[in-house]
Amino acid sequence: MKEPIYLDNAGTTKMFEECADVIKDYACKHFYNPSAGYALAIQNNKLLDSVRNSVLNKLNLNKGNVIFTSGATESNNLAIKGSVRNGKWEYVFSAGEHPSVYKTALDLQLQGAVVHFVPLTASGEIDYEELAKVLNDKTRLISIIHVSNETGAINDLQKISALKKKLSPKALLHIDGVQAFCKIPVDLSKTEVDLYTISAHKFHGPKGVGALFVKNKEALKPIVFGGEQEFGKRSGTENLPAIIAMQYAIEKIDVQKNYQNTQILKNIFLEIFEGNEKIKILETQSPYIVSLSFEGVNGETLMRALEKEVIISTGSACSSKHAGNRILENIGLNKDRIKSSVRISFNAYLTEQEVERAGKMILQVYNEIWEKVK
Ligand code: PMP
Repeated sequence: MKEPIYLDNAGTTKMFEECADVIKDYACKHFYNPSAGYALAIQNNKLLDSVRNSVLNKLNLNKGNVIFTSGATESNNLAIKGSVRNGKWEYVFSAGEHPSVYKTALDLQLQGAVVHFVPLTASGEIDYEELAKVLNDKTRLISIIHVSNETGAINDLQKISALKKKLSPKALLHIDGVQAFCKIPVDLSKTEVDLYTISAHKFHGPKGVGALFVKNKEALKPIVFGGEQEFGKRSGTENLPAIIAMQYAIEKIDVQKNYQNTQILKNIFLEIFEGNEKIKILETQSPYIVSLSFEGVNGETLMRALEKEVIISTGSACSSKHAGNRILENIGLNKDRIKSSVRISFNAYLTEQEVERAGKMILQVYNEIWEKVK
């Protein structure tokens, strides 16, 4: 059977095949516990450090710590809960956060902390003026998504850094970089970012592995206790095979080249829908993610009708189980438009022909459904 064209790469990506070889090698051959004291284990520990360097290099940093985790959900929880302190501190989030940040923020609020959710603008970015209004010297943590997993909107780390420096100099700045890292050029060197979350399965690495960049590890408290691995900030034996496979993906990806390729793919795709009054495109900056709505047709209906040929999504896998969409609502889309929205997400290795074929197929299937329901 012919494989469908996969356009849900913000949900997850296909792992590079070579990662499977790496995993086998480090699970079955070089399997030694990196915390043990003999030479073969010490060798593995050194390898972990080389992966930390690969992560730092990709962020254009030459110092700082990298803590390996089971993925971005854990990294986000660690960044937030590990920054919480007793006292009259305040915590600031955007309204466009992934549930792993949003629900952690709600939990903080439930426990009595002062939590601010800063609204988004119509283009899906955080509203910087509103952000400025809630920042003060009691701010302990600012946690903002880099690229929205729902819309592809990119938040400006320079602007956020400048606001933090001026208004909340004591705060820690955490960025959920899952949809940015290894996709768009990321340079943290001239920013105020203290914590940055990444997840390997979003850039062709294995699932269940990720990391948290930490500028100053003393600022972070652990949330998982045990054998003191990862500088005592995340106990538990590291998932060495997956971590080395993540490094393979980081080293293989040419971010600049992939970014340009994907921009071409997105343009080819969007051209198919431009000028069609029934189809609304939410214009955002990331070439990897686009949110479209198809008048009169449920996003879910379109997704299911297409799935043998083209795989798309009705939003992030994490929100698809819930009615509505918190993020599209926040940027001001009406209920009908939200119901008829789908998320298309590319990877840099798709061909122009595949993307064109997928776009034409989506249009054709939409038109067929529209004819029946109009
Ligand atoms: N943050 C963002 C922005 C995401 O897109 C995702 C994955 N949907 C996550 C966090 C959670 O990542 P993981 O699957 O690695 O826990």
